[in-house]
Amino acid sequence: MFFFDLSEPLIGTFLVSTFLKKPFPETIFGTYVENYQSNLNEVAHGGFLMAYDNNNIFAKILREEIPCKKIYEDDFVLSFYDINPQKKIHALVIPKGKFIDLDDFAINASNDEIVGLIKGINIVAKKLNISVDTGKGYRALANISEYGGQEVPHLHFHLFGGEKVGKMVQ
Ligand code: AMP
Repeated sequence: MFFFDLSEPLIGTFLVSTFLKKPFPETIFGTYVENYQSNLNEVAHGGFLMAYDNNNIFAKILREEIPCKKIYEDDFVLSFYDINPQKKIHALVIPKGKFIDLDDFAINASNDEIVGLIKGINIVAKKLNISVDTGKGYRALANISEYGGQEVPHLHFHLFGGEKVGKMVQ
């Protein structure tokens, strides 16, 4: 028979966490994390509950708590220049909804939000004169989670252009 040892802290906490449908850390750290949790929205993510961090830097930009160099905005997206440009033109396009990454977005976004983001990328590329009709093309890139090298946990597409972008993976 398969047996879970609830006295083993990690397994016990995971099971309690799963049973209570609470994120893992909350059941580990108790009160401190309960306060911290008020900044988090749980989202189904690959079969697990993952938390969207309402205090990530792009969430703050969306709430206009910190400034950005805005390029474009509509009901679905906000676009602004990357603070640390890697190419002549380096823009970011983010959905307005609370999505951690592209997988979260694919699973949980509405069809309107998905269309809105893809259309938004094209609108921004046109505005920056890097789209295929207004310029010479560009690279759209989304880093996803740990192995993808994602630093900001709010889905974003990087748009690189204005010059030859170079090798895809360095
Ligand atoms: P990633 O590694 O894909 O998560 O990329 C995060 C990007 O966000 C990096 O290219 C950063 O330079 C950029 N970034 C971080 N903070 C800001 C900010 N306040 N305004 C604009 N871009 C930012």
